[in-house]
Amino acid sequence: MREKLNQNLLLAIERIEKARIAVDRRRVVQILAVSKYASSEEISALYTCGQRAFGENKVQDLENKMQRLAPLPLEWHFIGTLQSNKINTLLKLKPYMLQSLHSLSLAQALQSRLQREGMTMRALLQVNSAKESSKSGFMPEETLEMYARIQEECPHIKLCGLMSIGAHTEETAIIQKSFETTQKLFEQLKDRGAEVLSMGMSGDFELAIACGSNCVRLGNVLFH
Ligand SMILES: *Cc1c(COP(=O)(O)O)cnc(C)c1O
Repeated sequence: MREKLNQNLLLAIERIEKARIAVDRRRVVQILAVSKYASSEEISALYTCGQRAFGENKVQDLENKMQRLAPLPLEWHFIGTLQSNKINTLLKLKPYMLQSLHSLSLAQALQSRLQREGMTMRALLQVNSAKESSKSGFMPEETLEMYARIQEECPHIKLCGLMSIGAHTEETAIIQKSFETTQKLFEQLKDRGAEVLSMGMSGDFELAIACGSNCVRLGNVLFH
């Protein structure tokens, strides 16, 4: 199993490097290994290959895997739609980052509990860049205003940038357009401290890198 995972990781790194060097030699692109369909054994094996950052999209799965893998110094990211009745559980787990902050009401609920617990949490605003009803996140036209507002009203949330899922289609031009929408917003948020642009999954990460991504979220290409 480890041999296969190592090969997957090396192949992914090769493809990322090729895409990265074609657009920007100085950019560092982080890999977030999305482990939602992987077992704790597979996560542990991928860690021994050098992968440290992992992402889960369900609070219950995150809790189980964090508990089982507690001895390893892993960096956990939450990437799913967070229901307000799961906020307390998520905060207790102290993940490295919440990549999917998708609404003002969620930000306000998080802020009040973070304040009460005397904690802070890193987060990315999720942008619904293709305006799909199936996806959560802020609409592109409200993103800049909401980013500023959350920074001002929710000081216990440390906003670090943006996350977006590419348009749900086979058409490359439309996916690219959705990435470029997020990229433009990210550029405008740099002077507000935005550093992370999380875009790209197994099917579209090279295109996302061409559009400025510095964090690709890879599930299938790593764990198949
Ligand atoms: C599942 C998931 C991924 C990874 O998808 P793959 O196609 O398996 O690479 C990335 N981001 C989010 C938000 C996900 O839910």
